[in-house]
Amino acid sequence: MSAGVVAGIKSFSTSGDPMIDVIRGTADGADLSYDGEHYRLADVRLLPPIVQPSKNILCIGKNYLEHAAEFARSGFDSSTNNQTDVIPDAPIIFSKAPCTMVGAHENIAPPWGITQKVDYEGELGVVIGKAGRSIASRDAYAHVWGYTVINDVTARDLQSAHKQWLLGKSIDTFCPIGPWIVSADEVEPENLELQCWVNGELRQSANTRDLIFDIPAIIASISASMSLSPGDIIATGTPAGVGIGFDPPKFLQPGDKVRIAIGGLGALENTVV
Ligand code: MG
Repeated sequence: MSAGVVAGIKSFSTSGDPMIDVIRGTADGADLSYDGEHYRLADVRLLPPIVQPSKNILCIGKNYLEHAAEFARSGFDSSTNNQTDVIPDAPIIFSKAPCTMVGAHENIAPPWGITQKVDYEGELGVVIGKAGRSIASRDAYAHVWGYTVINDVTARDLQSAHKQWLLGKSIDTFCPIGPWIVSADEVEPENLELQCWVNGELRQSANTRDLIFDIPAIIASISASMSLSPGDIIATGTPAGVGIGFDPPKFLQPGDKVRIAIGGLGALENTVV
């Protein structure tokens, strides 16, 4: 592949999702260079780079040691009663509905009537290129098309109350994603600096080398159960520094600006309304 950065484009789709068409057409390493019309970044509104994945966004819970510990201490973790042995034996997999996705500069709009405990989670997103089932760890990177930035926004009160995390994770606008996808040949996924700020205050700072379950392990685990398809999205987990990691917790409020940047992948900046 030659071009490193591809944003969501509304035209020339055959499948209903133009980016997935691009991924299908280039998953085997075909040239990504683009000879169509060009636009200035400042003149376009960035959509989520993928809008119709084949399934929910697949997410990994508690995949950085210090975050696993802060979550266990917080009292919101319905996945364990154990605050001392916090590392999961197997990846914790949950999902977010695709209707949660918004672009890199769109608003996060919580329904304040049902949640007052809204939290941010900066994460590396993996985009699948080549379809597969029962993918071996050693083959996993051959199935990755590219990488992006994700904010796994979470209603902690719903996550706790419903035990299953789906509703607290799947509120509309609770998955800012983008600003684009960077193709895998441009990225060193096991050495990426991730940072998250709220209103300019640095809250999360980590490196993807500290993932408990790395990308090959995650892909092997998920694909042992379900087929992965081009354009499927995996959020690899968040590091320490989320709102519930503070005492008292620092939940998001209307007007807050959340910025998440990953080295080489760009940044999301979304306002809570
Ligand atoms: Mg998360």
